Amino acid sequence: KIAYVNGRYVTHSNAMVHIEDRGYQFADGVYEVCEIRHGYIVDLTRHLNRLDRSLGELRIAWPMSRNALTQVIRETLRRNRVRNGLFYMQVTRGVARRDHVFPAEGTLPSLVITAKSTDPAIIAKKNARGIKAITVPDNRWDRVDIKSVGLLPNAMARQQAKEAGAQEAIYVDAAGMVKEGAASNVWMVDRDGTLITRPAEHGILRGITRTTLIDVGAKLGLTIEEREFSVAEMLAAREVFITAATSICFPVVSIDGQSIANGHPGSISQKIREAFFDVAEKIAI
Ligand code: PLP
Repeated sequence: KIAYVNGRYVTHSNAMVHIEDRGYQFADGVYEVCEIRHGYIVDLTRHLNRLDRSLGELRIAWPMSRNALTQVIRETLRRNRVRNGLFYMQVTRGVARRDHVFPAEGTLPSLVITAKSTDPAIIAKKNARGIKAITVPDNRWDRVDIKSVGLLPNAMARQQAKEAGAQEAIYVDAAGMVKEGAASNVWMVDRDGTLITRPAEHGILRGITRTTLIDVGAKLGLTIEEREFSVAEMLAAREVFITAATSICFPVVSIDGQSIANGHPGSISQKIREAFFDVAEKIAI
């Protein structure tokens, strides 16, 4: 396995960053995870646009040009022979003596890219069975619209889900309204077959899969409503599913131990999953 670290391709076991990297010291960095399917990078343009937004909000410089970055991503995927899987890309504010304020201008941002193959059969199995979720209060900061590497609350929530025999934790706000998963966006389908997901202007991450799924829904002639919905509404839904780049759209069949509908994956999430790759942007590795 090969990783890209600050200008060099190195074996995964020798891939290191400095102890004074601000990503390590302050979680002062952002990341993207992108799906690779059948030898194509899925929705790269949207992921790079979001990276640009995250960097801009935190005033971190681009580590290199967008074109150069695209080439490094492809080379990392080629060197790891990924056809189905993902790449992970992280940009931090760089290496500087520990101090909360930003380092001197000219400090180079750090760039790390890793790639991983995944077994489509394992994902297919998860889709056929559906996943379980729990609800948890949202204890994160209010800039979760930035895809920052500060994921301690998310890690705690996922661990709590695991210990409860579930695979995802769904954040709920103080008013009992659903926010998003610890690493996904949440959708419900109501009795009329309308797809509902929380608006992404504020308080959640604007998932790329979420955005492309809105395109997929339009293509399939589905009605989509971006509005808040409560936990009670979600528990009474016809279908619930979560979206994320590496899992597209997993059906959720149980939440807090309560079955959703008949406790089996629904047909709408399946239809969306089948149409997704066609609609998404595909760039050959
Ligand atoms: N929300 C959170 C908190 C996430 O961490 C993620 C992805 O990891 C998502 C939503 C889904 O975003 P995307 O579809 O871009 O993967």
